[in-house]
Amino acid sequence: MIVILRPDASPTAVGKVVDAIERQGHAAHISRRGERTVIGVVGSPSEDDREQLRSLDDVEDVVRIGVPYKLVSREFQAADTIVRVGRVEFGGDELVVIAGPCAVESREQVLTIARHIKGCGAHMLRGGAFKPRTSPYSFQGLGEEGLKILKAARDETHLPVVSELLSEDDIDLLARYADMIQIGARNMQNFRLLREAGRMGKPVLLKRGISATIEELLNAAEYVRSEGCEDIVLCERGIRTFERSTRFTLDISAIPVLRQLTHLPVIVDPSHAAGARELVPALARAAAACGAAGIMVEVHPDPSRALSDGPQALTLEMFAELKRDLDRISALMQDLHCAQDLHGAAARSRTNASSA
Ligand code: PEP
Ligand code: MN
Repeated sequence: MIVILRPDASPTAVGKVVDAIERQGHAAHISRRGERTVIGVVGSPSEDDREQLRSLDDVEDVVRIGVPYKLVSREFQAADTIVRVGRVEFGGDELVVIAGPCAVESREQVLTIARHIKGCGAHMLRGGAFKPRTSPYSFQGLGEEGLKILKAARDETHLPVVSELLSEDDIDLLARYADMIQIGARNMQNFRLLREAGRMGKPVLLKRGISATIEELLNAAEYVRSEGCEDIVLCERGIRTFERSTRFTLDISAIPVLRQLTHLPVIVDPSHAAGARELVPALARAAAACGAAGIMVEVHPDPSRALSDGPQALTLEMFAELKRDLDRISALMQDLHCAQDLHGAAARSRTNASSA
């Protein structure tokens, strides 16, 4: 349920609504919607609770939200959320490109990649220091040493860093070194970890679980959001289907569906979906054309020697070419949006003229 206050509502009136919600035993989440303050009521408010809130000063309306993921829903907030990581903006005009190795392997590997992708115009560096591997015998990541390497690359290139949080034990380390916290597909429903991530005070990149529905992804985002984290970026990375010709099936329709259901930005990781580098550029281009706010790809200077996910890593040359293509698609998408906005404005003014 959301409580919409009048545009001129006083801070005292807002405080009284929050008190009333808390007395009813629910949590209140305040946000701004243009001129107005909107308060999300999280809990199970009754009809009586609703009527009581409606009767308070400066309350304009009290509206039920028909989905379980309240705070991340479009019903709660119609305008797109823009998530900022340093100077990078997810959900702004420009397509955000994140690139880097699957796993941090060495200083030389990460610095080579970071310098290259920076030169190509990428916006952020990715790299796992703690790796969720299917086999316990596979390379598990360099841990804090890996995070230090990422930080060195960030200090040199100024590319903000996203890295995965695998366990509650590593929260302090990730908080110290990473600019954005990744919750991987395997942990999308690790509800304690989601809550902890939401309390870290850092933007969160939440990947879709390999067999998670869109509704489950949004409920996972709600866990993070309900702890006070507003800066959440969702990532479609392929889901498990009966198809075996790709590692996972990239659910391209998740992009427009999520854009309908949530105000959070949605990016796409074509690398884990494809599982094979030759397929990655086509999927990345499709995602950009389909309205993704960003693309995250794995890159390696020598994929045949990669300690994890080598077959899907783009070479440095392939990344350079893909980035050029993505820039062109991003520019085209911006033109299309401008044209749609103009078209929409023209249609609205026609409607106004005819109803005048
Ligand atoms: C990753 O991005 O490094 C990763 C492990 O991805 P996912 O959680 O989507 O498998
Ligand atoms: Mn990987």
